[in-house]
Amino acid sequence: MKGLTVLGSTGSIGVSTLDVVARHPEKYRIIALTAKSDVEGMLRQCERFKPKIAVMADTESANLLAKGLSQKGISTEVLSGLRGLEIAAAIPDAEIVMAAIVGAAGLLPALAAVRAGKRLLLANKEALVVAGSLFMAEVAAHGAEILPIDSEHNAVFQCLPPGVEEKLTASGVKRILLTASGGPFRTMPIEQLASVTPAQACAHPNWSMGRKISVDSATMMNKGLEVIEAHWLFGADAEEIQVVLHPQSIIHSMVEYVDGSVLAQLGNPDMRTPIAHALAWPQRIESGVDSLDLFQVARLDFDQPDLQRYPCLKLAYQAIQAGGTASVILNAANEVAVEAFLSERLGFTEIASVVDETLQQMPVENAEDLGTLLDIDRQGRAVAEQVVHNRVITSGIG
Ligand code: NAD
Ligand code: MG
Repeated sequence: MKGLTVLGSTGSIGVSTLDVVARHPEKYRIIALTAKSDVEGMLRQCERFKPKIAVMADTESANLLAKGLSQKGISTEVLSGLRGLEIAAAIPDAEIVMAAIVGAAGLLPALAAVRAGKRLLLANKEALVVAGSLFMAEVAAHGAEILPIDSEHNAVFQCLPPGVEEKLTASGVKRILLTASGGPFRTMPIEQLASVTPAQACAHPNWSMGRKISVDSATMMNKGLEVIEAHWLFGADAEEIQVVLHPQSIIHSMVEYVDGSVLAQLGNPDMRTPIAHALAWPQRIESGVDSLDLFQVARLDFDQPDLQRYPCLKLAYQAIQAGGTASVILNAANEVAVEAFLSERLGFTEIASVVDETLQQMPVENAEDLGTLLDIDRQGRAVAEQVVHNRVITSGIG
């Protein structure tokens, strides 16, 4: 019986994780759950999984949750804020921690799990985008273990030889082929992109996901963040990572070796596969995902990504090239721009231009300490907010 903490349990990945866990009550026990403000969702999860602790981001939600729990006679202890998240992440009874908070807000809780030497199931790619070097160093220093949940990285992990060296090339790997669906606007005429709505952007053709990552998939900033994530997880240079458009999302990524072999991991697009893989690794458990019906899939297509359609992908590659804190700024500006788009203060195609303008306004530094990284993250958000604000005034949206 293994103890599990789920950070971000009410989100898309959190719910899928609990779905897999519920199929194996003899294997996993939920120790802690955390959410931002979905009190109703958390209450239901506490009723079902009886965690020792539940954490809400703010005290108001925590108080509401505590009241609801006591009315139902559930003895889960309620905590709040960053301190509560860090306690949940490092709680001794849980050997496994799922990091499924969205955005840079997930960094400190995930780091707390790493510093407590946990097996970290990492969905929160933004943690690596903001603090990849420091994060990986802490994993090594504390004997923690990272298993990638992002479907592409989980696929790469499955296609790599066990115990891969720090440099991929030392294991005979030539390059990583990261697949990308291209999102809901892959074939839409480019001039129509400016007027797409949040609902259209969140209607992903293959995957059901949270709103932020859905927008990131539509702009392909998601793939840009994933290139950075792969760089840190697998010690691959940007030139060793190629993005391949693959609209069916059946091949989740591939690894090419020097002898010409290309290994791929295939499956239905359902996050319960990588979640179950990482939970049980190196064993395998049932995930609830349907068998892949290749006759129904019938064909697999591949294409090059068009950087005019997806300027965010280009910005991400440029940020990797620029190094230092460029990816922290990229991520902060993107979070602000996506939020502005989702609340209809910004047009879809302006997401890329807000990120670009923010990057141009901020100098890139060579910082690796946590304090400076968090500071740059804050500054990046403030600059991006200002850029959005100026655009709202000139365009009259909102
Ligand atoms: P989501 O928006 O559905 O859920 C996010 C969770 O984090 C919720 O439980 C929410 O309450 C919590 N949360 C949000 N902001 C918070 C804050 N400031 N403090 C504390 N908790 C907070 O997101 P998701 O789609 O589940 O994605 C989670 C992470 O996994 C993201 O980093 C995303 O990029 C990554 N990911 C998701 C998918 C997917 O299929 N959904 C696939 C690959 C990677
Ligand atoms: Mg992914």
